[in-house]
Amino acid sequence: MMLLLLQFVLAAASFMQHAVQAYTHPRSSYVRMVASAPSSTSIDDDIMPTRKCNILICGGGPVGLAMALSLAQRGYNDIHVLERNPSASYFEVDKSYLYRIDGRGQKLTDQLGITERMAEVSTTTPEFLNITIIKSDRSVTTVPAPADPRQKTAYWLPRRALLSFLHSRIEENDTYRDAITFHYGTTIEGLSLPENLQSMEAEACVRVRCMDGTIVNYSTTKVLGCDGMNSKIRTGLAAWATEDGEWHIQSKKEHDRFGLHYIDSKSAGLRYKILTLLDDSPLTIMDPTNITKKELCYSYVSKSKAGSQGGFRLGLLPLKMAGIPRTANIIARSTTPIFMLTTGLELIEYLKSEFPQCDIDRMIELEEAERFAKSPGGIFPKSQYCLESQVILGGGGGGGNGVVYKQGEGCGGGIVLLGDAIHAFPPDLGAGVNIAFLDVLNLLDALDECNGDWSRALPQYEESRAIQSRAICELIPIGFPEQYNHMPMRKSIKLLGVGMRVALSKAIPSLFSPPVFFMCQDVNLDYSQVWEKAKRTTRNLIVLGFAMIVAMLGTILRKFALPSLFT
Ligand SMILES: Cc1cc2nc3c(=O)[nH]c(=O)nc-3n(C[C@H](O)[C@H](O)[C@H](O)COP(=O)(O)OP(=O)(O)OC[C@H]3O[C@@H](n4cnc5c(N)ncnc54)[C@H](O)[C@@H]3O)c2cc1C
Repeated sequence: MMLLLLQFVLAAASFMQHAVQAYTHPRSSYVRMVASAPSSTSIDDDIMPTRKCNILICGGGPVGLAMALSLAQRGYNDIHVLERNPSASYFEVDKSYLYRIDGRGQKLTDQLGITERMAEVSTTTPEFLNITIIKSDRSVTTVPAPADPRQKTAYWLPRRALLSFLHSRIEENDTYRDAITFHYGTTIEGLSLPENLQSMEAEACVRVRCMDGTIVNYSTTKVLGCDGMNSKIRTGLAAWATEDGEWHIQSKKEHDRFGLHYIDSKSAGLRYKILTLLDDSPLTIMDPTNITKKELCYSYVSKSKAGSQGGFRLGLLPLKMAGIPRTANIIARSTTPIFMLTTGLELIEYLKSEFPQCDIDRMIELEEAERFAKSPGGIFPKSQYCLESQVILGGGGGGGNGVVYKQGEGCGGGIVLLGDAIHAFPPDLGAGVNIAFLDVLNLLDALDECNGDWSRALPQYEESRAIQSRAICELIPIGFPEQYNHMPMRKSIKLLGVGMRVALSKAIPSLFSPPVFFMCQDVNLDYSQVWEKAKRTTRNLIVLGFAMIVAMLGTILRKFALPSLFT
């Protein structure tokens, strides 16, 4: 509690310092407020201060911080990061999941030159090859983790550790620190676009509510929407695209520009809550001296069977960074009894009856149990993706608005969406942060290729990300959404199918590919290639199945029905 308070005070102090430093100028008259999110305030925007900046990064999650660091490395300055949390190290317990940065995500960390340092605060694949399963009958078994040890080492670290790590890489370097200003504790409320996007002076305006309730408008030529799955920047663009009549006439996609496409899956709708655990709890209640280790992975299986009766597991993922508490994910159907409990005491009693193998009193504090019972947790979303991810501002062209870009028309700027703002999905394949880092890398590559000309780089970025965003969302339902034990029968059928695909892919690799779950671990394949291979395998399986049915019918006919025809 004290730590939280201290973080809050420091963030407030830091914000005040930046507020004094930032250049303030009267609100530009050409900004038309077409796309602000509905606001609860009645304060007139015209009297609010407008701060001008070079680059505005909306959202200080993994993508926002990686983008800020990357742009500072390329020599951009006057970069401002808006983030509603009070600091990078703020502990959001319901987001305290573990990221697995695989070879895809490492393409970015390699380019930033931070992979080796990241290893120091992460658990690596060789350290995380086994899962210890402790059943309610107190039996203990160890099984290999579902990771391919031949693949490049992956780094496992909690969200808070990743954010602190990225933030520290900025803070420790004088140049980056001077180039980037963080505004923690600020909430983005809406986006406005100018009347004429192609005017050389065109700037977007982002409306922000500060911690003390005041509103500030940020005016800039470059906005990066890294504000997650409910992105205000994306909804602002969608509202603008729908409202702006003149722009429509030139656009082919019209109303659904910046709209979301949804794909359902068997894991969508599952509820999750995260429970913070005490360190050094015994592996089982039977042996109080055999203590769990933070860097190892454990799975405690409940007494009730998985599925509709409400059974679930306590999954303890490995953790290395000091000072971060260990957590257990509880992922189950919304109707599971654990989600119906309303007090900490009820929760402790319930856990004791469901997990007789655990010394619950040494695992969970009553205060934490109380917090857990009150927390709404979260719901796995349906996969959602947005095919459009950019609008050009200031002198450029292209960008799906029907205007052909002429080279040499200036470097322009634009509004660009990255990460969960353009693709969000359940965490079944551990792909979220990796595809998000690939977005960052892709935008940087496009900017490098176009010599920093945003008006040429953004359409390139949009084209390549649209393919990948859709592909990963299509892969989620056919990956392994049954893994959470909420539909045991389907999980068994799925595992049979997985076994069959593994066998066929080994026997005839030219016709059949391995299951999606395994292909996603092959970092040499991008998600669109995995999707293509999965579709091809399914097509070939259908043909094979059809051929087998025809062959069987032929055999039956030959034996029983029409033997005379074949003699
Ligand atoms: C339960 C769960 C488990 C997950 N597990 C994994 C996993 O194991 N592996 C994996 O790779 N991915 C996982 N993900 C997905 C992963 O978290 C995201 O893909 C990844 O964080 C994307 O990063 P981002 O920066 O685009 O968005 P986010 O991480 O969502 O960051 C957005 C940032 O913007 C800030 N923000 C949002 N709105 C505003 C606003 N209006 N004003 C100011 N700030 C704002 C937020 O506070 C946040 O810091 C999981 C997701 C969930 C929900």
